[in-house]
Amino acid sequence: VQPTPKYKRILLKLSGEALMGDDAFGINRTVLQGMVEEIKSVVELGVEVGIVVGGGNIFRGVALGATGMDRATGDYMGMLATVMNAMALQDCCRNMGVEARVQSALNMEQVAEPYIRGKALRHLRLGRVVIFAAGTGNPFMTTDTTAALRGAEIGAELVLKATKVDGIYTADPKLDPTATMFDEITFDKALHGNLKVMDATAFALCREQKLPIQVFNINRKGALRRILLGEKEGTLVHS
Ligand code: UDP
Repeated sequence: VQPTPKYKRILLKLSGEALMGDDAFGINRTVLQGMVEEIKSVVELGVEVGIVVGGGNIFRGVALGATGMDRATGDYMGMLATVMNAMALQDCCRNMGVEARVQSALNMEQVAEPYIRGKALRHLRLGRVVIFAAGTGNPFMTTDTTAALRGAEIGAELVLKATKVDGIYTADPKLDPTATMFDEITFDKALHGNLKVMDATAFALCREQKLPIQVFNINRKGALRRILLGEKEGTLVHS
């Protein structure tokens, strides 16, 4: 018998760096395939999956700001970088038998559908993975904020923030050997303890919408599926 997932609809946030693996730049095919493998394993559970992908592996708006480029221009370039990652992810999904659609917040009709909430919901109901590209479509924002926004819009029950660390710790485990990881923590405690979960805008939106955030290590094989089956993995931030 098929196990019953704890969540029916989720929003997964993948940073651009997550697609990079140990490379210095760009998209690592093996890493991408591993990620799709994880995604596939939860689609097979009947979970509806929305994904927001970052762009930091290709371009980061803020970085260019330092060189004198207009911040908004740099941010739009950053959003374009996320579209490339989204297309790579979609391509890999299709190769591995997972139905996926890219919806872009910036119009690019030759390469992606425009972001239309109703259409995204329909794709999700049909079991297709929806990859939200180009962030929110606005400069001065991040893809973490996009994850919170799209998560709220599609009625996701959980936002999953894929990271390179296992979860949220009492202190930086690299600096403090006595640091321990939280299994769960409330929004208020995370805020007061100054524990970085997502950027402030994303955090505030999730907190206000009572949309829980699960921070987990994407490099731990099977982690995504374990979370969706309600097993202990990472840190849950909740109301
Ligand atoms: N970005 C933006 N508005 C958004 C989302 C992203 O301007 O709504 C830009 C911003 O410049 C950011 C870049 O796109 O630096 C890439 O996104 P992000 O840094 O969030 O990617 P990640 O760190 O997750 O790879």
